[in-house]
Amino acid sequence: MPEALRLVAFVCATWIATDVGYSSFRPEFGVSLIWPLSGVALLWAATGDRRTWPLDAVLLGAVSSAALVVAGSTSGQAAMGALQVVLQATLYQSVMVRWAPRLWGSGGTRPLRRTADLCVFLVAVTVASAVASGVRTAGLGLVPTSDLQDAALVLARNLSWMLAVGAVVLQLGPRLAPAGPRPALHPEARPPTTADRAWRGSLVELVALALVTAAVYAAVFTRQQPLPLTFLLTVPSLWAAMRLDPLRAAVHAAASGTFAIVMTLSGSGVFASMVDPRLGAALAQALLAVLVLKTLVISCVMSERDAAIRRAQVSEAASLGRAALLGAVLQNMNEGIVVAREDGEVLVRNAAGDAMLRSSVMLSTGPDRAAAEEARLFHPDGTVLDEAELPFRRALAGEEVLREDLVLRFGSSPEGRVIEVSASPVPETEDSPRAAVVNFRDVTTVREHEGDLAAFAGVVAHDLNNPLTVVSGWADSLADFFSLGDVSAEDGQAMTARIQGAAAHMRRFIDDLLGYTVARDRPLTPEDLDLSAVAEEVARLRRDGPTHPEIEIEPGIQVRADVVLVRQLLDNLVGNAVKYVAPQTRPRVTLACRPAGDMVELRLSDNGIGIPESMRQRVFETFVRVQTDGYGGTGLGLDICRRVVVRHGGEIRVEEGADGIGSTFVFTLPRAGSPLPGLAPVERQQVGVSPDPSA
Ligand code: ADP
Repeated sequence: MPEALRLVAFVCATWIATDVGYSSFRPEFGVSLIWPLSGVALLWAATGDRRTWPLDAVLLGAVSSAALVVAGSTSGQAAMGALQVVLQATLYQSVMVRWAPRLWGSGGTRPLRRTADLCVFLVAVTVASAVASGVRTAGLGLVPTSDLQDAALVLARNLSWMLAVGAVVLQLGPRLAPAGPRPALHPEARPPTTADRAWRGSLVELVALALVTAAVYAAVFTRQQPLPLTFLLTVPSLWAAMRLDPLRAAVHAAASGTFAIVMTLSGSGVFASMVDPRLGAALAQALLAVLVLKTLVISCVMSERDAAIRRAQVSEAASLGRAALLGAVLQNMNEGIVVAREDGEVLVRNAAGDAMLRSSVMLSTGPDRAAAEEARLFHPDGTVLDEAELPFRRALAGEEVLREDLVLRFGSSPEGRVIEVSASPVPETEDSPRAAVVNFRDVTTVREHEGDLAAFAGVVAHDLNNPLTVVSGWADSLADFFSLGDVSAEDGQAMTARIQGAAAHMRRFIDDLLGYTVARDRPLTPEDLDLSAVAEEVARLRRDGPTHPEIEIEPGIQVRADVVLVRQLLDNLVGNAVKYVAPQTRPRVTLACRPAGDMVELRLSDNGIGIPESMRQRVFETFVRVQTDGYGGTGLGLDICRRVVVRHGGEIRVEEGADGIGSTFVFTLPRAGSPLPGLAPVERQQVGVSPDPSA
């Protein structure tokens, strides 16, 4: 609303309110009983800008005093009346801006919905009306005269009218100008945080309430000789306060109280029939104040209750969401988690924990005790864990157990599984007694691989060390001979030949190690390929060797395989076939094939020294060698072959050669065009020296 229009509206309202108030003056009461001017002044101050209030206040005082004079007051009475109104509004607004800055009318946008704001409001209206009434009374020269009753009546009237109008205005204001850009009168001004209590009842209830209110007030106020039925007034006022939204409830209370005052003015009803009319008038004002006050208190308490319920619902929904998320995470974890109380009651247990092992084993007491009996925990050195050593018990005693290996043995796994366990105490609270969280995972395979790796590293170190010793030994001897100056060319050549031989052995070993890594780690890229062609390439290089081996390959063998790995496979097998032959024997090698379902069975035969039956399975293990005298090697070649074949979903074995001569290596690979079978039997990706049943 433009400022000028607003001023005109307030000037008119002030004049009308003063006039209405003055016309409610009765000599028997000594004061006007209806005093809307208090409310108009309050509204004027609440909707104005603090900086322009001094001017507004002057205008308010001028208009109200003029209206009083026109209505018939003496100039003194008019001046005091105007001063009272201005003082009252100024004091009220100062208290509100200072102590309830977030409320609509004091710089904020919030409706009157909180008990804290209500307290400030009550203090503001009480202080404002008390001081203003006191000043007026003093100004009119009534103090120290004995007419204190008049002063009390003025105070009651001012207070109740400020309460009534303020209650309605502070509910209505935020609806009319909810969050509009009002001049911030206080730096703490913020948007409302307490949600509105909206009226969701039916029209029928509103009509019923109106009828009951009318009936009760008619019974109490329209009879000349009233029955003592005042207690009935509680019914509609309580009904309205409990069921209506704060604005409607405030309007109901203000209207009911005003009706009581109007009836008292007109001489009917319970208050008009009192012997002392001024006491009756004061009681009518008190009724208005109490009705409004009761409504405000109930509205605020219920609003706060509703807001608390809403907050609780929101946080409950958030907690449930978080709990569901946490539960899902817990259930999908690979680690087993158990949270249990001191008495063994399990509070949380996830699926991984259930699947991996009986979680009760970790607790060993409580309802799962029977199941726990079947299984037992051991230290890695094989000694049994006693109760006090259980990670769960130790955590309960306040200890942090960090990644300790234990061996769990039970019926289906007598050799035991290695379990890595951690445990820590759960902070104790008043309502949750001592508990501990235990998490564990099966590390059997990891530990096996770690062991295999250590053994592998040991063998590698040993096998590299031997030729190195040879190299450094002969190099030292050579140096000694040179320092003495008596080394012949022949001796020198013999010594360097040994050094070269050892270096060549090391190179071969390193090449085999690299081949081993390729066979194990190279990503498989299978393709349809002519295996005969690959084998021919391999054979061509071998045929040029010193023994001029005779190598015969069946043409047209088609397989689906990784060409790099297959070349490595054939190279190792053909290499062994031409190497492990008796002295002075010309190696003879044949490669033939026959279909076997989706696979192709290949047979590589030689006329070599053969492999004893007892070693035919073990030769595929890492570093296992049968014939070492006179035959160089590392013991990795056949392990590489096994890995390549297994990675293609095939199998490999060695048989005695035809007519008991030599050996025949039999292995399968997918035939061309067929899908690669799923990774066949447990392909042990990690290095290992222990027997692999899949080989
Ligand atoms: P190496 O590096 O010793 O050749 P391999 O893993 O290739 O290692 O072979 C393991 C052992 O199997 C060899 O030491 C050898 O005794 C035996 N062997 C492999 N192939 C043949 C074969 N064709 N004829 C006879 N013995 C063989």
